[in-house]
Amino acid sequence: MSDQKIVFLGTGGTIAGTALNALDHTGYTAAQVGVHDLLTALPGLKAGVGTGRYVVEQVAQLDSKDMGFDVWVKLALRVAYFLEQEDVQGIVITHGTDTLEETAYFLQALLGPAKPVVLTCAMRPSDALAPDGPQNLLDALVVASSATGCGVTVVCAGAIYGADDVQKIHPSRLNAFSAVDAGPIGFVEQGRLRLLRDWPHAQVNEMASGGLLVSQLADASWPRVEIVMSYAGADGTVVRALLKAGVQGLVVAATGNGTVHQDLETALVLAMQQGVKVTRATRCAEGRMLPGGNDALPAAPGLTPVKARIALMLGLMRAAPKSR
Ligand code: ASP
Repeated sequence: MSDQKIVFLGTGGTIAGTALNALDHTGYTAAQVGVHDLLTALPGLKAGVGTGRYVVEQVAQLDSKDMGFDVWVKLALRVAYFLEQEDVQGIVITHGTDTLEETAYFLQALLGPAKPVVLTCAMRPSDALAPDGPQNLLDALVVASSATGCGVTVVCAGAIYGADDVQKIHPSRLNAFSAVDAGPIGFVEQGRLRLLRDWPHAQVNEMASGGLLVSQLADASWPRVEIVMSYAGADGTVVRALLKAGVQGLVVAATGNGTVHQDLETALVLAMQQGVKVTRATRCAEGRMLPGGNDALPAAPGLTPVKARIALMLGLMRAAPKSR
């Protein structure tokens, strides 16, 4: 175990952010400090970087609100590469909080890793008076080093969440994430794990990716899949505009147990008849849709709209004829 490596992949975010004023937790610039510098600033970690026990790579440096497919592909390729190395025990990814749940779900659906892949973040910039990133990094390292750890998880403010369940639920407080009614997998307390339930399954999520290989992803073109929301007065105009723009998939963020405004539903059914893949996900913050409601449109129970979009994109890419 002692010669096993931990890989740190940096992508930016507030954890790598800096501010002009150490008390400013909102007016800072994300993605300014390299992951190598974040690690070597931490007591105890500098030595590990120096000896090669920790492998450190800067995959990207961006505010995760600007996350895009190019970075996802680059990240997935590096994660897949390191997962295959026998001497790698686990991977820590530093990431912004804004789209962290999307990247986590994307990696879990695509790779379903048997080793721990831990995304961590911060709500305060690295040079804040009391930054939260250093402790989150140390906690993520505990999870990535766990011999029993498995699957893609998110570590923030001492809690461990599964990629399928995690959502950012608060715009500013330090514990900004929740797995809502699924609950956290466990906690990191004083460097020790206290587990409450199983790690995410070590298998590719067939519903989401249908066995799409990370190598295929590098050559694939990403389908245009957009999210539309059902709300009072939603009349389908957006759907008609998206059809004109060549949309290939639509996720409807449905009300309640998957209900959709009748005028929006009419537009979505028409879109389906024109070959567009449509799926429903509830816009409710908690719970999962139960069967027996709207059957006119397929459903993605248990997925939030942003995760249902990723599942639909991966499914469409897998179904697409291969260019080579
Ligand atoms: N906008 C930042 C990001 O997602 C927010 C954060 O990291 O907390 O990169």
